[in-house]
Amino acid sequence: MKIAVPKEIKNHEYRVALTPTGARELATRGHSVTVQVGAGEGAGFSDADYEAAGARLEASVDTLWGGAELILKVKEPQAEEVARLSSGQTLFTYLHLAAEEKLTRGLMESGATCIAYETVTDRQGGLPLLAPMSTVAGRMAIQAGAHSLEKAQGGSGVLLPGVPGVAPGKVTVIGGGVVGENAARMALGLGAEVTVLDKSIPRLEVLDDRYQGRMKTVFSTADAIDEAVHESDLIVGAVLIPGAAAPKLITRAMLADMKPGSVLVDVAIDQGGCFETSKPTTHAEPTYMVDGVVHYCVANMPGAVARTSTQALTNATLPFVIALADKGWKRALADDAHFLPGLNVHDGQVTYRAVAEAFGLES
Ligand code: NAD
Repeated sequence: MKIAVPKEIKNHEYRVALTPTGARELATRGHSVTVQVGAGEGAGFSDADYEAAGARLEASVDTLWGGAELILKVKEPQAEEVARLSSGQTLFTYLHLAAEEKLTRGLMESGATCIAYETVTDRQGGLPLLAPMSTVAGRMAIQAGAHSLEKAQGGSGVLLPGVPGVAPGKVTVIGGGVVGENAARMALGLGAEVTVLDKSIPRLEVLDDRYQGRMKTVFSTADAIDEAVHESDLIVGAVLIPGAAAPKLITRAMLADMKPGSVLVDVAIDQGGCFETSKPTTHAEPTYMVDGVVHYCVANMPGAVARTSTQALTNATLPFVIALADKGWKRALADDAHFLPGLNVHDGQVTYRAVAEAFGLES
């Protein structure tokens, strides 16, 4: 199959959809892999790395897209990319269509087959192509939070691990899913005192079992959040209610109860944020202050660690890419009940119910 890997053009997107390792896997199976010149640069992969792996390099965007049967990307196609898509082509990437009517209609008009990373499922009911980015964001949340606690960043000047004779800082993670567990794990690793709040008892059981009492697990109630607000040096917001905006668990009034220079890291900002005072920020200016509390609300946290994020994402996507290349999209989806929900748009129709319903379309 003729596979193309464009350079991402969305602002500040440095990831790439295929590593040289992935290119080699595909090339050795007899597929033709063409990578846009410079596509891997932001993630630390040179053109020479791709060539050595058996890929061809292409400088012309027209030629790259025009000659492809399967296009691999990271972010949703931007307007000029949608215009390049045509029927007979398959696109595999993050799409997040439910909030993007214009993009959805553009993809319908293209006639292409569009498969979304974020709606592929697994046997455990999880989202295996979203989880790697949640893992990255969860781990980064503590790195970002610890840095934000420094005086020069407006923080209280607390060092999370403490030192001999000085108590460690207190970290509360609200939401103990993929992001939350990874944040809690990092905070434990740093030597902080860690509490995880969740609404799900089974989830708290898993954490309790896994970490053998090294972190406190607390059922998430208004009282538990009040206590966290009074005591914590760093609070990480990591809740998710699938298909809904994040609930506002800390109000502006509650900030007055926090210690001056405490830090809120709102990882759930991509779902609207779980603190009332959260607003999306970028890596260029990640934090701002409200009532003496530092807020870190970067909506695309994994973008800052493009190399690790690219490797984590492509480890997860590669088996699906290989199936698409070896079998073609029809057989690949028909053979795998968990890959099938990835199909979002085909031949002018939306094929994913939640997206169709969002825009009153037939699915
Ligand atoms: P997840 O489904 O694995 O975990 C969410 C957890 O929140 C669940 O365990 C759920 O029981 C819990 N929860 C729901 N309501 C709660 C409440 N009121 N109090 C306490 N816990 C509650 O989801 P995830 O993969 O960990 O993602 C969490 C959030 O992080 C999502 O909004 C996701 O989109 C976001 N995210 C952001 C970035 C970024 O760059 N900012 C990157 C990855 C993920």
